Amino acid sequence: MSDLQDWPEPGGRAPAPGEELHRLQDFVNTNDVESAADALGTPEKLRRWLVAIGAIPREATVDREVHARAIAIREGLRALGEANNGEEPDRRWVEAMNRAAAGVPLVASIGGPGWHLAGVERGVDGYLGGILATLLSSMADGSWSRVKACRNDTCRWLFYDASRNRSGTWCTMAICGSRMKARAYRARRRETAGRRAPDIRPAPTVEPLAYGQ
Ligand SMILES: [Zn+2]
Repeated sequence: MSDLQDWPEPGGRAPAPGEELHRLQDFVNTNDVESAADALGTPEKLRRWLVAIGAIPREATVDREVHARAIAIREGLRALGEANNGEEPDRRWVEAMNRAAAGVPLVASIGGPGWHLAGVERGVDGYLGGILATLLSSMADGSWSRVKACRNDTCRWLFYDASRNRSGTWCTMAICGSRMKARAYRARRRETAGRRAPDIRPAPTVEPLAYGQ
């Protein structure tokens, strides 16, 4: 397994159970929102990452169009993770993901009591098809509802909430949880001091309108 694929989980959380959902989580977390470092920020970066994790052959190429599809799907997944954390998801990304997904074929194989979805194409769209198949399968078995984007809007790390009562809100309480509590405390103090609290939502690092057209 490549280091590029197996990201550490903050706060010692366990990754999502099952190889496929864990891989989806790693894909979304290639965009480190907090440090504004996107490991897939250009078509060439995406190509190198997919080669490194063994998803495409070394000689494969990645053009701007397929790169845009990958980013739209990745950020759409993060938006769905926000919805799983009780927030209003960024609809623009969900729409961009749906536009991108329309160009990625999936095939269902039905046998015995079960079914299995998989990507069809080879190359990047095959990889994206696998990611979408994992999303749909985990929605069907209920595990998707535990995949959450950290509530800290400067973090947005995708984590798996394994808690019994599904109460997980932050990727790690010790970092994002305490940070957000401190921020809320400061905002309250500002308000009581009669000053308006600043808008804390940061500018998005990427814009959905550019993707998945
Ligand atoms: Zn976090």
